[in-house]
Formats: sequence, C-alpha cells, structure tokens
Amino acid sequence: MSWSVLLLCFAGALRAQTLPEPATLLRPAAVFDGQAMHAGWAVLVENDKITAAGPAAQVALPAGGRTLDLPDLTLMPGLIEGHSHLLLHPYNETPWNDQVLLEPQALRVARATVHAQRTLLAGFTTARDLGTEGADYADVGLKQAINQGIIPGPRLLVATRALVATGSYGPKLSTDVDVPQGAQEADGVDGIVRAVREQIGKGADLIKVYADYRWGLNSTAQPTFSQEELTLIVQTARSAGRGVVAHASTPEGMRRAILAGVETIEHGDDGTPEIFKLMKQRGVALCPTVAAGDAIAQYRGWKKGQGPVPVRIEQKHQSVQAALKAGVTLAMGGDVGVFPHGDNAREMEQLVKEFGLTPLQVLRQATSGNAQIFHLADRGSIRPGLLADLVAVAGDPTQDVGAVRKVQLVMKGGVLYKQP
Ligand SMILES: [Zn+2]
Repeated sequence: MSWSVLLLCFAGALRAQTLPEPATLLRPAAVFDGQAMHAGWAVLVENDKITAAGPAAQVALPAGGRTLDLPDLTLMPGLIEGHSHLLLHPYNETPWNDQVLLEPQALRVARATVHAQRTLLAGFTTARDLGTEGADYADVGLKQAINQGIIPGPRLLVATRALVATGSYGPKLSTDVDVPQGAQEADGVDGIVRAVREQIGKGADLIKVYADYRWGLNSTAQPTFSQEELTLIVQTARSAGRGVVAHASTPEGMRRAILAGVETIEHGDDGTPEIFKLMKQRGVALCPTVAAGDAIAQYRGWKKGQGPVPVRIEQKHQSVQAALKAGVTLAMGGDVGVFPHGDNAREMEQLVKEFGLTPLQVLRQATSGNAQIFHLADRGSIRPGLLADLVAVAGDPTQDVGAVRKVQLVMKGGVLYKQP
C-alpha cells in the first residue's frame, strides 16, 4: 500500500488529532438547546467550548473566525447514548456466547474501534458503555485511544467488567468446565469490596451490577445479589465517587437495587406499579432499552408487523407505561451492540413510534436528560461554557424523530468530524 493510500485510510483518524478552529460561528435554521427549539439562533464555538448562543443578530464572530452556514439544519447538543457495549456486535452475526468465548480480544477491540467511529458519526458524542462482556478492561484502553485522538469516537463513561453473583451469569457450557464469564464474579463482603475497588482502580467510571439474571428454574430471571451485597456495592463505589447502575428486570431484583441506591435500572421489564413508585420516590431513573428487546425477539424469529406480538414485547410495553404513569424519569439507551452500533437512533424512534413518547421527550432524554442523570454538567445543552459537542440534522427533530438519522455535522470538543 502506498503512503498516499495509507494516509487516505487514516484521514478520518487524523482528523481527530486536528486542533479545534479558534472561532466558528454556526448559523443553522434553528437550534434545539436541550430543552426547546429556537428559530434563527446562532452558536459561537471557541476552541473546545460554546461561548455564545442566541438570536443570530446578538452573536458576533470574533476577528479571524469563520462562519459555517447550515441552512435547513437543526443544531443540537451531541446526543448521549445511555447503554452501549462497544465490545459487542449483533447477536444475529455471532451469538453472545461465541463472542465471549471464541473471539480473541484483539479482534473484539479492532471491531470496537469501528463501533466507536460509527457511534460518533451517528451524532452520539458521549456514550455510557455498560460492560465489556468478557473483554476485561478493553473499554479503558478504548477510551484512552479516543481521548488521545488516535481513533475517532464518543466520550466514554466505562463500566469495565461489571459484577455478577457467582453462578448467575454466562456463558454456561458443561458442568465439568469453568469457562470465562461475561462479567466478574464476586460475592460476600470481602469479595465484593475487593472487586468494586479493583474495577475502579483499573479505570471504571461507574459500576454495573446484575441484580438479577436468568438463573432461575427453567431459566427464568431471579434475583442474584442479596440486599446487603447490593448496598455494599453502592457504598463502596460511592465512597470512591462512582455511581452504580443495575441490570434488573424482576420486581425483587429492581427493589433491592433501588433500596441499595443505584442511579439507574437497566431494562426493568417486569417492573410493577409499586416498584416504579419506589423508583420515583428514590429518584432512580429507568433505561428501558426497548430496541434491544425488539432486536432479540426478531433474532428469535419474530416477524415484526406479522403474527402475534411476543409476550416479552407486550410486557415491555406494560412496564414502560407503568413507569411513565408513576412519573419515573427515563434515560435514553438502547443496549447498542445487541443491534448495530451507529444505529443508536433506533431506541429513540421506537420510543416515539411504538411507545407513545413525543419526539421532544426523547430528544430531551438523549441530551439534557441523560446529561443530568449521568452527572455530566459540562454537556447535553447548548449554552455558553459547555463543551462544543454539537450535531446538525436535516429537518426538525422535535416534529419528526426520524430527523436524528439525517446527521450532517458532528463536532466534538470544537473539532469537526463531519460537515455538510
Ligand atoms: Zn446491556
């Protein structure tokens, strides 16, 4: 391969190392600032920050700066993915067991670099990545590669290995062999404290715990950790400044996780009105991951739009409605990796088209909402002082959620990764 071809191949990656322009004035048709639409606004970016946003006539471009006209586009905060697994790829390509057991870590990481780029170019400038599923601490290195400008990708909040109770998780093969698991097993006071600290020491931004899993009789979901164990996980993480998120779908698993003080419940499929009331009281958000359930049902043979709706999908509709009725805050996260990275908007579309949320609701969730739930005070809105993580899409995403797929511009920290 000649050097020129090689350079072309790496052009995308090199762009990540480019310094931000000193001053750029963005002039779209409208600005969604994380809360509401503002027609005729302009946004000024200097270095890696937003320094002004408001009616175009009131935002002046400093000398030496450049103007970027974005006619017919809506400028909005970079989207925040709430639940991804960059180290996984869709299960209809390779079953989860095989990804965990058969794929070398180098292969998984190589693929993850492409996933990171696709996520960013889809307009998601931040992602909360909830577990490497057997790829150890590869997410920490991936995050470093992105932060050092070696590969393009979103800003990452990483959970590293995640915690499971012994015997509860997978893969499960013969009883005669202990195979590597998709998460770290830990139990009891000493084991749990040690595992949480180990993950934090290696770079976990948050701790992910599986409060229940399909290890009941006939593979039904049952709680895993005891109340005491979950409480200890939260206390140990919190004392080091980290939050805890819980995978939970059973009412009892959810209840224990909520009482322990987790910040979000992932999935929540069998949540009851009582459980959602408790979530609301304790200020715990729900990340329903509707797109993952939908994808898995289709991988198992469901022909969407034909034939009866699977029980799991019906149940998901009921739980999301019960959560909304109880006033539970929803985080936006699709469990991307179960379905293709870069297709992150699928969760937003399904929440609108199949679960009755408005486009405005899901846009807020994916920007200012997720920023608040994940304690990211420096992003998720367009206002002076925040990071210049910006996306421009064709059309009005507050009217048509499908507009979030029409990404024309992606800026992260003042650096353009895509422009019209
Ligand atoms: Zn997940």
